[in-house]
Amino acid sequence: MAIPGHIDPVPVPRPQVASDDARVDILGLSREAIRDALLEAGLDERQAKLRAKQLWHQMYNRGATDFDAMSDIAKPQRAWLAERFKVGRPNTVVQQVSTDGTRKWLLKTDDGHDFEMVFIPDADRGTLCVSSQVGCTLNCRFCHTGTMRLVRNLTPGEIVGQVMLARDALGEWPSQPEGRMLSNIVMMGMGEPLYNFDNVRDALKIVMDGDGIGLSRRRITLSTSGVVPMMEKAGAEIGVNLAVSLHAVTKEVRDEIVPLNRKYGIEELLQACADYPGANNARRITFEYVMLKDKNDSDEDARELVRLIKKYKLPAKVNLIPFNPWPGAPYECSSDERVNRFSDIVFEGGISAPIRRPRGRDIMAACGQLKSAAEKKSRAELDKLAEEKLAALG
Ligand code: SF4
Repeated sequence: MAIPGHIDPVPVPRPQVASDDARVDILGLSREAIRDALLEAGLDERQAKLRAKQLWHQMYNRGATDFDAMSDIAKPQRAWLAERFKVGRPNTVVQQVSTDGTRKWLLKTDDGHDFEMVFIPDADRGTLCVSSQVGCTLNCRFCHTGTMRLVRNLTPGEIVGQVMLARDALGEWPSQPEGRMLSNIVMMGMGEPLYNFDNVRDALKIVMDGDGIGLSRRRITLSTSGVVPMMEKAGAEIGVNLAVSLHAVTKEVRDEIVPLNRKYGIEELLQACADYPGANNARRITFEYVMLKDKNDSDEDARELVRLIKKYKLPAKVNLIPFNPWPGAPYECSSDERVNRFSDIVFEGGISAPIRRPRGRDIMAACGQLKSAAEKKSRAELDKLAEEKLAALG
């Protein structure tokens, strides 16, 4: 049977639009790649190594984007660097702040593609939801991003750039090991991170690097819709927490909601979770479960969820997510009573199943909504909106 949508990763190769700025953006390069770029620009081996170390510290510990502010580098060297290199950030199209404190950014790559990131603050911590692709190949039916074609993978610089931009906005430089608002990262924005594996891995290695941003792997979660063949590699090479967009417990319903299920079925997926390196009771696998009225929210579904998790002996918790509909969405959200009942059954089965409070509804914080809304606005409307929002932010 033909499967609707694009199931396999088919990144559309698009040449980067040449910018007038010929300088090399070093954000997102590994230390070795920065050193190589400096060597190529004419520094000798010893100088290149030292400069790469200084630049790394300045970029990722101090948050510097201006070479002139890098006081540990001699002045003539700063000018030399500024002529040849830059430290970029994604371009901000719109920044919105919800009444509940959730912040959402519509960002643009240098070659003109929009993508999103969201920051969700809590009392003593905050989580940044980071995108890995522009659009997505997987047409999950409850997800607005799933209605958009994949344009391209984000580069390591564009992925780590989201973290940098959020910390700029939160005023969280220099890096502190504790007590910061941006305390957690979830790779749960636009795109399927395991279909952009190398770039996500390289970006997260920078985020975890102790000489820079220094976020512990325990505070980072990678969310997949179930790209089974890549899961073990993700555990071995990245080693962060795993979240799985499960959303249904029968083949029929999951085939509809998460079409990737037709390729990698539920049992295969749960076996891959059981084999995920490093998962244990202290580092449980999170199963995301969006609550859709009369679709996946019955008592039987809840009992089957418990049975499956127990069958595979998974150290697991379940996040129940009330569906955040958009205009024309094919589903409705389950009632509060239904969500509570579902949660109770899973809890009674011995598995934690908290209900996630919807955040940022007034700013369309669900994945893909801002990009889609922006595409319906004219350039002038967008500029005006951006000005208003920034003015409101002070
Ligand atoms: S839920 Fe994730 S994987 Fe599925 S369509 Fe949306 S962005 Fe893609």
